[in-house]
Amino acid sequence: MIDRYAVIGNPVAHSKSPQIHTLFAHENGQDIAYGRLLAPLDGFKETVERFRAEGGRGLNVTVPFKEEAYRLATLHSERARAAEAVNTLRFDVDVVFGDNTDGAGLVRDIRDNLGIAIAGRRVLLLGAGGAARGVIAPLLAEGPSELTIANRNIERARMLERHFAPYSGPGVRSSAYDALSGSRFDIVVNATSASLAGALPPLPRGVFAAGSLAYDMMYGTGLTPFLEWARGQGAGLTADGLGMLIEQAAESFFVWRGVRPRTATVFASLRAA
Ligand code: NDP
Repeated sequence: MIDRYAVIGNPVAHSKSPQIHTLFAHENGQDIAYGRLLAPLDGFKETVERFRAEGGRGLNVTVPFKEEAYRLATLHSERARAAEAVNTLRFDVDVVFGDNTDGAGLVRDIRDNLGIAIAGRRVLLLGAGGAARGVIAPLLAEGPSELTIANRNIERARMLERHFAPYSGPGVRSSAYDALSGSRFDIVVNATSASLAGALPPLPRGVFAAGSLAYDMMYGTGLTPFLEWARGQGAGLTADGLGMLIEQAAESFFVWRGVRPRTATVFASLRAA
């Protein structure tokens, strides 16, 4: 029987994961089927269990179930434990393994695809939701000179500062947006959902250092409002989150199949589409 995988979420119709994993499978001679699973908001666990009972081998987990997936997994990777959120489930014989590949995806896109070192750089992360939480430990592991988190609800940023205090690296500093005035950063990552609503996080002017990278986790056609604003503010390079999406998928594929797919042709094909 063919090995079955899927992305589970609500909503899930917009997900590009089936397209990405089908291309990975094709390019790597892996015989898998990958679909979409729409779970009722109050029926995540039941939907996962049914999929597993029917022979499903693994799932990607998207909004709003990443924290529930963390609770459902019986064994966690270190990075999933750090994030307390899971975007990849693998069903082994008597273990449900939970991993989080979002941070690896972001780091690989910035460091390897865009060719920008994170080590020694001043990094500003906007947002304190699930996406931000997932990328903090992998960013810290790269050895930035500082990692500042700004969020509208400052208490959520402070909570992350406390949570990641034991991790190696410079630690996390939390900040309100207006308190960033006068600071400069080399890499600014937008992990808020503001772009989804066509809005901008309330950053003060002048936070982009010369030659800095502005990175928006959101992706789509054309520049997001954040990237457009960043260009006007002097950011040297802008990138949206399509590369992160494909890289996190490649890492999930590796977790399931033990094969690390190449991502360049998939990126080119999705960008062209
Ligand atoms: P959450 O709902 O968990 O968090 C949303 C965050 O955005 C909160 O910090 C919230 O601040 C902040 N926010 C929302 N609107 C605004 C605004 N107008 N101004 C300032 N801050 C705002 O969402 P996620 O963390 O799960 O996702 C965030 C984004 O990352 C989404 O756009 C998602 O699509 C993208 N993403 C992309 C991935 C990729 O592979 N490219 C992977 C994962 C996520 P507050 O706490 O103050 O409300």
